[in-house]
Amino acid sequence: MRKIFSAFITILLFAVSGCSCTRLPEDIYDLPYTVFQENTDAVPERLILKNERVTLSFTNGRTMLHCNGMPVFMPDKISKDSKSGKWILPERSVKTVLFTLMSPPEKLKGKVVLIDPGHGGSDHGAPLPFIKGVSEKGLNLDLALRLGSELQKHGFTVLYTRTSDRKIRLDKRGNAYKADIFISVHHNSAANPYAAGFEVFCLTPQAPERFTQLRKSVQLASSLQQAQQEVTTSRGRGIRFANFQVLRDARCPAVLIEAGFLSNREEALRCADLNYRKRLAAVLARAIRENVLP
Ligand SMILES: [Zn+2]
Repeated sequence: MRKIFSAFITILLFAVSGCSCTRLPEDIYDLPYTVFQENTDAVPERLILKNERVTLSFTNGRTMLHCNGMPVFMPDKISKDSKSGKWILPERSVKTVLFTLMSPPEKLKGKVVLIDPGHGGSDHGAPLPFIKGVSEKGLNLDLALRLGSELQKHGFTVLYTRTSDRKIRLDKRGNAYKADIFISVHHNSAANPYAAGFEVFCLTPQAPERFTQLRKSVQLASSLQQAQQEVTTSRGRGIRFANFQVLRDARCPAVLIEAGFLSNREEALRCADLNYRKRLAAVLARAIRENVLP
């Protein structure tokens, strides 16, 4: 595995010059792909990596890449050295994000899912200015219970950090039970009333010994992000990385979903709609099932 990674890094550090397609030797890489640079007036320096699974598109100086059109906000910026023309990306992003996106899915093992409905009790979560009597903590709990019930129908053991409206300390969530998968459920808010869309967070990679766990988290995040597109018209806001305590504490593949912006009127109304939550829970549960070895 280490050999593949170092080869992979070498590719990224490979000087890509001109705008023609550069075919790299296939026999030294377990993940064959083509790499080329696309120069347009709008985006003068864009790097494309392509294999049979995905096309990844990077822009010099940005953390965001597009994976088959889905935005992924890497933990690090990709940059092109102006003198040498080499593309540089820190190893942790290569090992956790790029490798996962380009590889065949790494299936999860085990069927114990710990679901964490965000907030609760005196902690109401994000404000919901458009609908009276509804709060983020309540929507989180409802969506979490529906997701859990869908998974139970398919033989999963589901544990929850809370099943009622009560406050749970952050340090009693991610590590609350021994589980195979951890999912924290939240709804979003922003000062910009037009901000909209579903987001999935994974832990910012730090400790290399946890990279395997993190790659599985990224794989799960990618499946959840793609699945939610079936039930919403908002553009998915993609996969992101953050140092959230619940993700840090979890000792299994772990993601935190932000299921929609309660500060956006249209999206708040949709999130508060029971039928929408039922459909969302069903597609998210299917994405989890498909990620687990039979
Ligand atoms: Zn929240």
